[in-house]
Amino acid sequence: MQHHKIVVALGGNALEERGTEPTAENQWKTVRRAAEHLAELSQAGHEIAIVHGNGPQVGRILLASEAAADITPPLPFDVCGAMSQGYIGYHIQRAMKEALLARELGRIPVVSLVTQVLVDEADPAFQNPEKPIGAFCSREEAERLSREKGYVMREDAGRGYRRVVPSPRPQMIVEFETLRRLWDSTIVVLCGGGGIPVVKSTDGHLRGVAAVIDKDLAAGLTARSIGADLLMILTEVEYAAAYFGTPKQMNLTHLTTAEARHYLEEGHFAAGSMKPKVEAAIEFAESAPGRQSVITSLENAGRALRERTGTWIMNA
Ligand code: ADP
Ligand code: MG
Repeated sequence: MQHHKIVVALGGNALEERGTEPTAENQWKTVRRAAEHLAELSQAGHEIAIVHGNGPQVGRILLASEAAADITPPLPFDVCGAMSQGYIGYHIQRAMKEALLARELGRIPVVSLVTQVLVDEADPAFQNPEKPIGAFCSREEAERLSREKGYVMREDAGRGYRRVVPSPRPQMIVEFETLRRLWDSTIVVLCGGGGIPVVKSTDGHLRGVAAVIDKDLAAGLTARSIGADLLMILTEVEYAAAYFGTPKQMNLTHLTTAEARHYLEEGHFAAGSMKPKVEAAIEFAESAPGRQSVITSLENAGRALRERTGTWIMNA
């Protein structure tokens, strides 16, 4: 089998098992299982970098910080993002190292980068924040938070009010040069949770902003920047599907980018879940000749490469 240069995007299911208590111990157990699948890729000779989600984790860090506000000053959201990268990266580093050692690949170093990702302050997403973060609260509390802190608060599906932040598109990985220097020798974990969104002010300084970057789009940017040949998006389902969740469901196997765009435009992929994956997959496949993307489940990562299962998207 041909060896690939792969950027892997890890979904929430690689970090947290549905229905279990979200403790650090449970996360560790889940990450250990995920690492077995990733180490299989290294064992097959592929070079990988790992991008992961952080939604539930950053939400809990924020919640804990706000709940302790009368003991210690609450942390801004960009700092919570950095903390989640450290928390998750630490587990991935340990788990990958163990899985590699068990395969006599213990010489391969694994490191996580606290990663900032540049976004554009003029991105239309800043005019329309819609990504809910943190805890639910009452209408009165929501009014107080928007008055005192300037938060944008929205009613969330009858469950109460929640803060919403923008989800701008990732433009550039600030720590890209570090990734480039490490790529040949090291498994790099980066852009956790899509990266910490930063904007550049007119005087050239970077500043963290309260926003959320989609981790699949950040993985796509990583893959394009490093010149990977495969963007591998690992999630809960083996295939992206048309007519998902209906009796007509049709698992998609091989798609040209034009076909993928057609399904996208027909609305088959849910916003905030499958849609950004397919968008990232198309964008990467079209970015240079020979590049392809695959969307499949974590458990099928190795098999997807050997037998080409999963949803493959290429620029035919
Ligand atoms: P991740 O944490 O991996 O990013 P998401 O929940 O954001 O996971 O996205 C994956 C989920 O998208 C799947 O588990 C599935 O429930 C949902 N989904 C929505 N539309 C589709 C589709 N057309 N085909 C397959 N899965 C879909
Ligand atoms: Mg997702």
